[in-house]
Amino acid sequence: MDLNTITDVVRRPADRPGVHWREGDAWLAGGTWLFSAEQPGLRRLVDLTSLPWEPLVPSGAGLEIGATCTIRELYAFAPPQDWPAAGLIPASCEAFLSSFKVWNAATVGGNICLSLPAGPMITLTVALEARYELWAPDGSVRTVDALGFVTGNNRNVLAPGELLRRVEIPAHALRKRCAHRRFSLTRLGRSTVFLIGTHTPGTSDLLLTVTAGTTRPVRFAFASMPDAGTLRQSIDAIPADVWFADPNGTPDHRRHLTRHFAEEIRGELIAKSAA
Ligand SMILES: Cc1cc2nc3c(=O)[nH]c(=O)nc-3n(C[C@H](O)[C@H](O)[C@H](O)COP(=O)(O)OP(=O)(O)OC[C@H]3O[C@@H](n4cnc5c(N)ncnc54)[C@H](O)[C@@H]3O)c2cc1C
Repeated sequence: MDLNTITDVVRRPADRPGVHWREGDAWLAGGTWLFSAEQPGLRRLVDLTSLPWEPLVPSGAGLEIGATCTIRELYAFAPPQDWPAAGLIPASCEAFLSSFKVWNAATVGGNICLSLPAGPMITLTVALEARYELWAPDGSVRTVDALGFVTGNNRNVLAPGELLRRVEIPAHALRKRCAHRRFSLTRLGRSTVFLIGTHTPGTSDLLLTVTAGTTRPVRFAFASMPDAGTLRQSIDAIPADVWFADPNGTPDHRRHLTRHFAEEIRGELIAKSAA
């Protein structure tokens, strides 16, 4: 779509692009959402994709993902063998209602910052206990827990002019066992619910992340594996206004699916730890 309010595009922004931020600016990443809707409040796009940000940096500490890493680049990542939970990376990339354009151009940072309930990069990074590094226009840097970043449908904690620079996933989360479940109305459709469970080998813990069915990610941490009733009670305690309603599902339908898949994930992780 032509964005006819845009009068300027900054193609080669400064290393710290926020310092030149002004009202009416928007960070441009893959542009797959920005160019898909009218943007009457915008005057200038600042293209982050020309910045020399490494897409993927694996190390002993974990995996660092640059905000401009594309979904295609992330999907192609070959993880070390002792990171079984890295199997969630391709599964999450496949959870997009994807087109050729989204697959090749959409970025991890754009998906997180758009902050839609069905943002699979949000699901992935919350489940893997990531932290996000944010750059403010005054040059300061803060790091926030992925869990608290998205605050509602299309809402997050970013202040005006602040940007997401990188995602840091700790190695201990990548070494966990994992299970996931997703439901969409059509085979390649947008997620109605997307849940991920992780479990530390040698313990009986469970970390269950619930997304897409809720307007913001919800994560339950159990020090020991809950029984079916306890798990269900936790899901039932999610406040009514946190369940998401859109053409992909009513809140009741999403709560029902979440209960069902959470129990399947619990069963799968118990079976994996017994194997
Ligand atoms: C066919 C189609 C299917 C889609 N399916 C899905 C889906 O299943 N789930 C889903 O969540 N979305 C979906 N989308 C919406 C969107 O394309 C994706 O969320 C995509 O990942 C956005 O990434 P992008 O790099 O293209 O972001 P852009 O469109 O460039 O930007 C999106 C928003 O994030 C801001 N932004 C981008 N990068 C940063 C940054 N580093 N720091 C701060 N702000 C930033 C931009 O200013 C803008 O407000 C779909 C879109 C299309 C066209």
